[in-house]
Amino acid sequence: LNPVRLSVQLHEYGEGRRLLLSRDVTMFEQADAMRRDFVANVSHEIRTPLTVLSGFVETLQTLPLQEEERTRYLGLMSQQAERMQALVNDLLMLSRLEGSPPPGGGEWVALPAMMRQLQQEAQTLSAVLHPAASTLPPQAPLEAKRGGQTLDFEAAPAYELAGASTELHSALSNLVSNAVRYTPADGTVRCGWRLLGQGGEMEGAEFWVQDTGPGIAAEHIPRLTERFYRVDRSRSRETGGTGLGLAIVKHVAQRHGAELKIESTLGLGSRFALLFPASRLRPMA
Ligand code: ADP
Repeated sequence: LNPVRLSVQLHEYGEGRRLLLSRDVTMFEQADAMRRDFVANVSHEIRTPLTVLSGFVETLQTLPLQEEERTRYLGLMSQQAERMQALVNDLLMLSRLEGSPPPGGGEWVALPAMMRQLQQEAQTLSAVLHPAASTLPPQAPLEAKRGGQTLDFEAAPAYELAGASTELHSALSNLVSNAVRYTPADGTVRCGWRLLGQGGEMEGAEFWVQDTGPGIAAEHIPRLTERFYRVDRSRSRETGGTGLGLAIVKHVAQRHGAELKIESTLGLGSRFALLFPASRLRPMA
């Protein structure tokens, strides 16, 4: 049984008349606790880069540094600023998602174009995180590229999806960038679109991302879409994670009538998928 919180007030009206008012404030208190938690989390997330940043400013002001060292410090400072920027962007995105009605079906987004953009972003991110791969042209022999992640992006079917393109891109891009960020340099990230259904009847479409990363223990999976929930704190921070990515994915999915499916095996890798209903899809003209 969950405890229930009651607020009780006794009003006296004279002549022995009394009114006892009792209200169930459980939900109100839970919402209030969640809000307090959220503010505490955001403050902590902002304070950490801010502290590092102030430390560097002080060092630059007080110590006579060589040019090379100065440049290194400025680079580290810019990293912290970027971290705060990413956090603010994700917070704004979440607040927009929570505060606005779901998008109507007015906008049609082509799957192949969305896929090409994701692939480019993934290549850039992978090259930043695993610089070995970035120094070689795409046509370099596989042998030479050893050490860099293998990114395998399937061509998308010629279909369009009804929804808000910025939101959809943000959701898909969060799934892809997580896979790239949590998968080691010698790992593989595969992703693609798949039409669902049997016997020629299209019943929806699935966007899937599969990686050979560390995998996620079963007990964490139901909590992954909570704001600021992280399994591996240091890996998340190192690779520029805000802890809000999957919360954004969940909201976008809900607003588009899609389902988020997470499957993972510790030590082997993870598979994240978004299932969109047929009503939101049409073949490209
Ligand atoms: P973050 O910015 O920390 O990546 P997310 O909301 O995107 O925040 O993800 C929440 C947590 O889920 C991450 O901190 C990480 O521990 C875990 N996670 C997400 N995607 C993967 C993945 N592909 N492989 C392993 N762990 C993952």
